[in-house]
Amino acid sequence: MKRIETRLSAPLAGMAMLTVGLLVVVLFMSAARVDRDALEHEQALVARGMQAKVVDIERTIWSEVGWDEAVEHLDHRYDPSWARENIGAYLVGQAGFDQIVVLDHAGRPVFNERLGQPVSSAWYDRHAPTFFGPILDRLRQREATTPRPTGPRPDGDMVSRPIQVSAVERLDGDAYLVTASLVQSDFGKALIRHARAPVVLTALKLDAAFLDGFASRFLLPGVHLHSGDATAQADDAHLGLRNLNGQIVATLDWQPPHPGQRLLRKAILPILLVVGGLGVAVIVFARRSRKIAEGLIASEARAKHMAVHDALTGLPNRVLFEERLRQAVDGLSRRRQAMAVLAIDLDRFKAVNDTHGHAAGDELIQAMAKRLQTLCRAGETVARLGGDEFAVVAVDLEPKGAAALAERLVQAMSAPVELSCGAVFVGGSVGVALIDRAEGHVGAVEAARRADVAMYRAKEEGRGRYCFFEAEMDAALKARRGLEADLRAALGDGGVWLAYQPQVDANGRVVGVEALARWTHPVKGPISPSAFVPLAEDCGLIDELGRMVMRRAFTDSRRWKGLKVAVNVSALQMKQADFPDQVAALLVETGARAKGIELEITEGALLGDDETTHRAIARLRAMGFSLALDDFGTGYSSLSYLRRYPIDKIKIDRSFITPLGEDEEAGAVVAAIVRLAKALSLSVIAEGVETNQQHRQLREIGCGQAQGFLFSPPTPADRIDALVAGGGRIRVPVEA
Ligand code: C2E
Ligand code: CA
Ligand code: CA
Repeated sequence: MKRIETRLSAPLAGMAMLTVGLLVVVLFMSAARVDRDALEHEQALVARGMQAKVVDIERTIWSEVGWDEAVEHLDHRYDPSWARENIGAYLVGQAGFDQIVVLDHAGRPVFNERLGQPVSSAWYDRHAPTFFGPILDRLRQREATTPRPTGPRPDGDMVSRPIQVSAVERLDGDAYLVTASLVQSDFGKALIRHARAPVVLTALKLDAAFLDGFASRFLLPGVHLHSGDATAQADDAHLGLRNLNGQIVATLDWQPPHPGQRLLRKAILPILLVVGGLGVAVIVFARRSRKIAEGLIASEARAKHMAVHDALTGLPNRVLFEERLRQAVDGLSRRRQAMAVLAIDLDRFKAVNDTHGHAAGDELIQAMAKRLQTLCRAGETVARLGGDEFAVVAVDLEPKGAAALAERLVQAMSAPVELSCGAVFVGGSVGVALIDRAEGHVGAVEAARRADVAMYRAKEEGRGRYCFFEAEMDAALKARRGLEADLRAALGDGGVWLAYQPQVDANGRVVGVEALARWTHPVKGPISPSAFVPLAEDCGLIDELGRMVMRRAFTDSRRWKGLKVAVNVSALQMKQADFPDQVAALLVETGARAKGIELEITEGALLGDDETTHRAIARLRAMGFSLALDDFGTGYSSLSYLRRYPIDKIKIDRSFITPLGEDEEAGAVVAAIVRLAKALSLSVIAEGVETNQQHRQLREIGCGQAQGFLFSPPTPADRIDALVAGGGRIRVPVEA
C-alpha cells in the first residue's frame, strides 16, 4: 500500500516543489535583472550628468577667457587688477572655484589664488606639474594645431571656438575638477600677439557641497566620494572619475536603485499567498489521490483474495491449493523431511444437503471448514476444493506426524455438528499421500491424485477413517472405476435383474418374497449387492438402481396376489425429498397395489429423526405400504426408532440367527426381541435361517416368520411364478 502511495504522491510533490522553486528562482532572477538594468541606466545617466556639469563649468570660464578684452588685458599686457576682478573674483563668485591660476604667454603664473588668498610660486613649482601639468600639455597641443583668427569675420560672428581641457586630479587627498582654458579672441578685434596665448587654470574641489548639489539634481541617495578606484565594490552604484590618462582617481558612489527588489517586496505577499494556496491544493490533491489509490489497492487486494479463496468458507480455493502444493513439492529438495497432501471428503454431506436443504449444507461446510482450520498449524494450508471436498498441504513431517494429523482431522469431523436445524453426524474420510525427498519426481498433480486414491480407499473401508496411499491402490481404484462404468451400463441394458427369496410362516407357507438385486458381470460373473449397492450409492447411481428395482418388483407383485413383496430401500433413497412422489409415480406406472409391497429400511434411513423423514414415512404408510426395519439389532438405537416411527415389522439380523442352538445367549436375545415385537404389536421375521435347528428354536420362541437358505435361496421370478401356481407351499428338507 505504501509503495503505490509514494509512487503516486512523490512525483506530484516533486513537481509542486519544482514549480514553486522555479517560480521563486525566476522571480529573483527577474528582480536582479531589473535592478541591474536600472543600475546601468542610472550610472549612464549620472555619467552624462557629470559631463554636463563639466561642460557647464567650461562654459562659465569661457565667458571670461574667450573675450577680446581678456586678450588685451592678459596677452597684450598683463593687467593685475583686471585679472583679479574679471578672472579671480568673477569666476569664484560664479562657480565657486577653489583655485584660479593665470599663466602669461611665457607660462609664468601671474595670478595664483587659492580660496581668495595668493599662493606662493614655490607651491606652484611643486604641485603644478602633477596637478595642472597633464591638462596644460593637452591644451598646448590643441593650441598648436588650431589656426588663430586674423581679424573680425565679415559676418560679425565669433572667430574662435573654445579650447579647454578638463580632468579630475587629486591633491592632498582631495579630488578636484581641473580645467585649462586658453585665452582667445571672440570677435577678432584684439588678436593674440605672443607665440603662446595666456591660460586660465581652475580647480573645483569635489567636496560635500559639490556632491550635495549634484545629488539633489539627480536625486541620488547616499552619495559620497571615494579616493581611488572603488568601482569594483559590489552593492553600490558607481561613477569612476578619470584623469586625462583615463585612470580612475576618484569614485562617486551612491545607493543604487532597487526597483526589482522593491517590486519583489511588494509582490512577495501575494506570491506567498498563491504558493501557499497552491501548496494546499497540492496537498488536497495528493490526499485525494492517495485515498483513490488506497481504494484501488484495497479492491485489488479484495479481488486477488477472492480469486484464490472460497467465498463460503474463506479458505484457500483450488487455485491457491494447487499453488501451495506446487511450492511444497518444489521445495522438497531443500527440506529434510517429507511433505503430505491430505484429501478430505465428508461422508454424509449429500444426505444433509438433500434432507435439510442447501442452507444447512452451507452451514455444515462452514462449520467443518472452521474445525479443520483450527486443527492445522501455521505452514499447513487447508483448502476447500469444492462441494464437501477439502484438502490439506503440510510440509516438514514424518509418516507419524502425517498419521497424527489425519487422525485429528477424522476425529474432528466425527463429532456432531450443531446446525440451526439441529445436530447432524456426518463424519469424514481422509486420504494421505506422503511424498519424501526421494520422490522429488512426483509432481503436484500426482501427489493430489494419490491423496484422492487413498481417500477413496478410506471410504471403501468403511468411512470415518484415514488411509495412506499405497501403490496397489491404483490398481484397485482403476478396477473400481471400471466397475462403476460397467454398473452404469448394466442398469441401462438389463444386466441388473431381481431374484426373490421366499419368506415363510410357521406352517411353511410362503407369505412373502424379498426382492434382491442381482448383477451378473459379463466378465467377472455374479457380483454381490453388498459390493455394488454401496458402489451405486457412492457414484450417484443409487436412485436409478432403486427405481429399477421398484419398477421390476412392483410389476412382478401384480402376478403374486397373495404374497407381500419386500423391497430394500437404501437410506440415501429415503433421504431424497421427492422419494414418496417417485414411489407414487411408480405405483401408477406399474399398476401395483401398495398393500402388496413392504419397504425394508435400515436405521440409517431414520437417522437424524428429522421432519422430512417423518413426513415421508407417514406418506408412504398412508399410501398403503408396510414398513420393515431391516438388520434389526445391529444398530445403536433400534428400540428407540420403533417407538418414534410407525414400523410394521422387524427383521432380526442374521448375526443373531446364525449362532442359534450353539449359543444360549443368542437364543435369549432373539427371544427378547420377539417378546418386544409382540408387546408393540409388530410382526417379526428371522433372516438367514439355514438349519432345521435354527428353525425349530425360532418356532419355540414364537417367531412367526422366517427367511433363509433352509427354505430357498433367492431365485428368479419365474420360479416364484411356479411356486405361486403350485399353491405357495415350501417343503422344508428334513435334517439328516
Ligand atoms: P439384506 O437386505 O439383509 O438381504 C438379505 C441377504 O441375506 C441377501 O444377500 C440374501 O441372499 C442373504 N441370505 C438369505 N438367506 C440366507 C441364509 O440362509 N444364509 C446366508 N448366509 N445369507 C442368506 P444379498 O442378496 O447378497 O444382499 C445383500 C444385501 O444387499 C442385502 O441385505 C441388502 O442390504 C442389499 N441389497 C440387495 N438387494 C438390494 C436392493 O434391491 N436394494 C437395496 N437398497 N439393497 C439391496
Ligand atoms: Ca433386506
Ligand atoms: Ca437383512
